[in-house]
Amino acid sequence: MGNIELLLGDITRDYGVDAIVNAANSSLLGGGGVDGAIHRAAGPELLAECRTLGGCATGGAKTTRAYRLPCKYVIHTVGPVWHGGGQHEAALLRDCYGNAMMRAQEAGARSVAFPSVSTGVYHYPVDQAAAIALKTVQDFWDAHADSFDRILFVLFDERTLAAYKKAYEDLN
Ligand code: ADP
Repeated sequence: MGNIELLLGDITRDYGVDAIVNAANSSLLGGGGVDGAIHRAAGPELLAECRTLGGCATGGAKTTRAYRLPCKYVIHTVGPVWHGGGQHEAALLRDCYGNAMMRAQEAGARSVAFPSVSTGVYHYPVDQAAAIALKTVQDFWDAHADSFDRILFVLFDERTLAAYKKAYEDLN
């Protein structure tokens, strides 16, 4: 398998991937942060499709088309809100990444870009979130090496990128 790529940027730009992952909320009806950016770039058809899905549980992931985004699919996952770590946040965040990888594989998406789920308004500590994100995705890629060509994390600010780089070094 290849190496996970860590980039600084806006996930709605063109990275040549088949699928991007959205850090959605459980309504799947749009919000702020990366969710707002994805809906703005995709156009109103994305919200129309999301309305048909009936929401998504925390830790779950659901696939839609990508409309005006430069990819084929959006995989919407719902991260846990950080409550101090005593409410299964780590297991739920692991589920997000594992389920998103499963949805990508089912869709035949061979390249996937992730944002940093839960570390914005959901306040998950970025160092801990980065370690979980990278380990979960790398383990899935190792177990299904034939299914994927590229996996990227597109991180929106330097501090988040630095946390992911550190977690990546600790993992490898
Ligand atoms: P959550 O509710 O899961 O915390 P947020 O959207 O608030 O989701 O934040 C998750 C991460 O996504 C944060 O690091 C935030 O800075 C980042 N982010 C916001 N906009 C974008 C974007 N356009 N591309 C990539 N990452 C983004």
